[in-house]
Amino acid sequence: MLMLAGIVENSIVDGPGIRFTVFCQGCPHHCPGCQNESTWPFEGGSPFEPEDILSFVQKDPLVKGVTFSGGEPFSQAGEFARLARLLKAKGYEVASYTGYTFEELMEKGTPEQKELLGCLDILVDGRFEQDQLSLDLRFRGSRNQRILNLPASLEKGRAVWETSRRWVGDEEVPRD
Ligand code: SF4
Repeated sequence: MLMLAGIVENSIVDGPGIRFTVFCQGCPHHCPGCQNESTWPFEGGSPFEPEDILSFVQKDPLVKGVTFSGGEPFSQAGEFARLARLLKAKGYEVASYTGYTFEELMEKGTPEQKELLGCLDILVDGRFEQDQLSLDLRFRGSRNQRILNLPASLEKGRAVWETSRRWVGDEEVPRD
């Protein structure tokens, strides 16, 4: 069962196109300046089965992608991996925010967290850093955060930026 803070059925701020966004309940990072402080407590939230979320997503034919946000999705990694697999099987692009870095998850992540990495297309990683805040960034809040192509990152064993214009626009990002 996923414990969720909420869902947004038509989001245009959590990735390219019209997306369905799933906000999980619970975050261990407590970044100063976080916009979602109500999602920090691990108590509370509403329970949903991943299959229920899939059926909500499928109601809108305009939705082509789903984003996991928080809270910290990797604190419920096993259940989010279940949801990601269901979504991928139906052809949706699946992205997730996380306060962890890709390197932290690879080096110290639990088996469930690594499993979730393997189910995602895109990872927007890193804590929100107030002193690196920029309103010009696409789909992220602070400059330290990265938009990573997960299949490429896992194949190469290091963080690889997503370079498609849909995700990074005209921003100069590291290219392989
Ligand atoms: S990781 Fe995200 S939800 Fe958690 S405290 Fe930081 S900005 Fe807020």
